[in-house]
Order: sequence, then C-alpha cells, then structure tokens
Amino acid sequence: MVKQFVISSGHGDKVSGAIGILNEHNEAKKVVNRVYSILTNDYNGKGYKYHETTATNQQQNLANIVNYHNSKERALDISVHFNSASAGATGTECLYYDKKSLSTKMSKAMANALDILDRGAKERKELYFLRNTSKPAILLEVCFVTSKKDATAYRKNFEDLSQAIAKVIADELGYRKKVTTVSKPTVEAPSYYKSGSGLFRIKKPCYAYKGVSFSDKSTRVELCQRGTKYTIVGIVKYGSTYRLKTKSGLFITANKEYVEKI
Ligand SMILES: [Zn+2]
Repeated sequence: MVKQFVISSGHGDKVSGAIGILNEHNEAKKVVNRVYSILTNDYNGKGYKYHETTATNQQQNLANIVNYHNSKERALDISVHFNSASAGATGTECLYYDKKSLSTKMSKAMANALDILDRGAKERKELYFLRNTSKPAILLEVCFVTSKKDATAYRKNFEDLSQAIAKVIADELGYRKKVTTVSKPTVEAPSYYKSGSGLFRIKKPCYAYKGVSFSDKSTRVELCQRGTKYTIVGIVKYGSTYRLKTKSGLFITANKEYVEKI
C-alpha cells in the first residue's frame, strides 16, 4: 500500500498567525490545498489535509492540529507556516525534529522555486508540532510575510512553489507522477458495401439522390427514414465512396453506418 501523509496549515481561523504583507494562515491554507491536490491528483499519493477552525487559543489550536495528525495512518506529517521578522528578513526554512536531510531538501526546493535565499534546515525539537506528532514531521517556513521581496516572489511563483513542495514529499514517500495519456479521438473511416444487390434497410436517416454525386442538394429526391427498405440493383463506386443504386434509379450512400443489408 502507498504511504500516506498528513499536511496542515499552521494556526487557525480563530487563532491568527503572523500578519504582514501576507496573512500567514490564509496563505498556508492555499499552499496546503494546492500541494494536497498535486499529490493526490498529479501523483499517486494518498493522504489528508487539515485546517484548524474552532480553537480560540493557541494551546487548543496546536492540540487540535496534532490530534488530527495523530489520528491518521501516515508516514509523514507536514505543517505549513510562514515566517515573520523585520522587513529585511528573507528566505525559506524547514524545521525538523529528526528529518534533517528531508528538511534540507525542502528548504532548498522552496528557495529555488521562489528564487529567494535558502536559510536551510533547522532542528527545533521543542516545537509543539514537531515534538508531539508521533510520525516523522517537518514544519515549513515558506517565506517571510513581513518581506515585500518574499511576498512578491511568493505570489509570482505560487504554482512552482507548490509543485516543488509536492515533489519533495513525493520523492520521500515514493509517489510517482501519473502518466496522463491523451488518446487521440479515433475517427473511424467509413465502411461501405462495395458490391451486392437485394433488400437494404436505412439505419440512420439520409438522402436519396438523382445522381451519384451528393454535393448538389438540388439533386436530392427524398429523405430516407430509418427502417425504410429499398430494393438495390447494384453498387456504384464514386471517388473513394460507394453508392447503392435503387430499382427506381436513385442513389443512396453505401456507408454501413447508414444502411444495412437484410
Ligand atoms: Zn506560524
């Protein structure tokens, strides 16, 4: 069975995260939603996403998030945050309990996608999320909500960022990108009766013409209703197509989609 993940946004609807040029919790939700969608649609990933909505204080908020993660069967826990500091602070970070190598990759991938400084992996064993989730966990600090440069880079490169985060998770959990084969609509060449005579029945309404060329509508004689039977005295080739010739001298297509021999 494929390994599962749980990804959640930092903070909650009633417990605000950092607010600068960007609103941390709002942006974290967008990243979580997009990364989750990529992993479960574009990759063969399986997992859960979570946004905390009910807590009214930080302790309850953290407890709800961690409880959700711990309630699921999974191989990796991911929490998405944004950093906050002075206006000049810039860059990506990934915090970890013991997943140093994965965090190094994650911070680098985010920095490349956003084209901002890679501040790297940081061990933070004291953080509630990292300490209390019972599976390997990482906490992303996407960029600084307080930095104009970071906010601009984030807005501009949101999709690249989401793809980059998803790829690091996918590589870690062994997910493969789904191969989407766009199959060409198969247009079947018409199949014709090429010889024969006798009774034919109309399968699909079409016209009977005075001549073998059907390009001139004025030579149309009648509409052949479905189920009508015609006595055919011969089949005539016209260009690359074939026409049934009726006893009364009219021509009807010999296309098997429209007529059938009975
Ligand atoms: Zn945060």
